[in-house]
Amino acid sequence: MMQDSGATHTLSFGVTPHEGRSENLHEGCLEARRVRNEVNRLDKEGWDWDDIHDTVVDNANLVKNTTQLLVQKALKELETYHDHKDEDWGRPFPYIDETYPMRMNHNEGYALTIDESGDVHFRVSYKPYNYVKGVLRGSPDHLERVKNALNSDSWRVGVAELVHKHNEWRLHVSVTHKTRTVASPDDAETVIGVDINEDCVTLAAVTCNGDVLDSVVIEYPDIKRVRHEFFTKRKRMQTVGQTAFETVVRTEERDFVHDQLHKVSRDVTRWVSQFNDPVIVFEDLKDMRDSIDYGTRMNRRLHSLPFAALREMVTYKAAWGGIPSDNVDPKYTSQRCPRTECLHIERGNRRRKRFKCKSCGFQDHADRKAAVCVVQEWFSEQYGNVPSLETLPSVRKMRRTASGLCEEADSHGAIFASGVHRHGTSAQDSQSQAREELKTGAPVEG
Ligand SMILES: [Zn+2]
Repeated sequence: MMQDSGATHTLSFGVTPHEGRSENLHEGCLEARRVRNEVNRLDKEGWDWDDIHDTVVDNANLVKNTTQLLVQKALKELETYHDHKDEDWGRPFPYIDETYPMRMNHNEGYALTIDESGDVHFRVSYKPYNYVKGVLRGSPDHLERVKNALNSDSWRVGVAELVHKHNEWRLHVSVTHKTRTVASPDDAETVIGVDINEDCVTLAAVTCNGDVLDSVVIEYPDIKRVRHEFFTKRKRMQTVGQTAFETVVRTEERDFVHDQLHKVSRDVTRWVSQFNDPVIVFEDLKDMRDSIDYGTRMNRRLHSLPFAALREMVTYKAAWGGIPSDNVDPKYTSQRCPRTECLHIERGNRRRKRFKCKSCGFQDHADRKAAVCVVQEWFSEQYGNVPSLETLPSVRKMRRTASGLCEEADSHGAIFASGVHRHGTSAQDSQSQAREELKTGAPVEG
């Protein structure tokens, strides 16, 4: 299998042939299997690898460099086998008659093009003058990423594998950023903590000195609303047994939610890229479900999607810009007081969107505080200690809806008077206000 490494990503698509015989895909993949078997057979007979390469390439009924890619892959497998045979690794030898993934170079064995309507067309030729054509199907983000790679000079569309799986033909396309490398999290100057909820994502940018440079809550109420609506609709259909409609509804929902999450992830990466050498830090997903305050299984299912999808989208969009991402243990990020002098942990510290430390009285917007705690957790895991919080600016709010993005004066302004940014407040004011808050929130020692 192809592996993602650094700036290379593998995108997966369904292919439905519209032109040419689809049997050709099958024949090509059977020939790919024969090539692989042949490499193994000649190796077993003790042939020199250079001779294997030339002989197999000259005799295969495939586009020449498709065979070359297949032979290289087969030889690599043999190399691994020879390196490990003392450890009882089996020889990659079995003669199997099934199809084998065809490996192809872009604009040789296969080609992708975009038409005026934005559809991505494929052409697969397993041998010269022989092609199968059609349109790629896939998730909105994989389609957008492949289009981006096709349109951009800084991206290369690389090797693809044609695979037959579960009665379906799929094309796994690798795209690589030509020059960009993702920075190491160790070199980060600004650490961005992320707190994801079902209706908003909150970001806090913190320097290594503990200065919270800025923080923002990006709300996406439409995603939550639409997911709830569709969930109810689907439930109703299941009850009356309309399973065909259910699939349609599911696709409709997925497309809407995906599109919106996509936009939100762009908002996030845009905000992050204003800081010097950032690293984006998420809470580790596998433990995430436990920290959600909703009881029922239904709710858990409802809430599981934005976490995973948004996180994945932000991670790859940021990686395109050379920005690394990292994880921390989500333990207590929502319950712990962020003041280094306090660090009191209690479930009762948090009440909905409000955090109030039961021990020192420190107050803040609960999600922003959680994002700050994510950063603190990262410092603690990375360096074994946490810088003391120096400044805590007010929280900005933005709202991403189906109709666009706006910065807004929040209706909860009065409740969060000390912590939430309101229109007309200058950064200067809010900073001094924030310092004030840190002081009043805590009895200062000394
Ligand atoms: Zn406290």
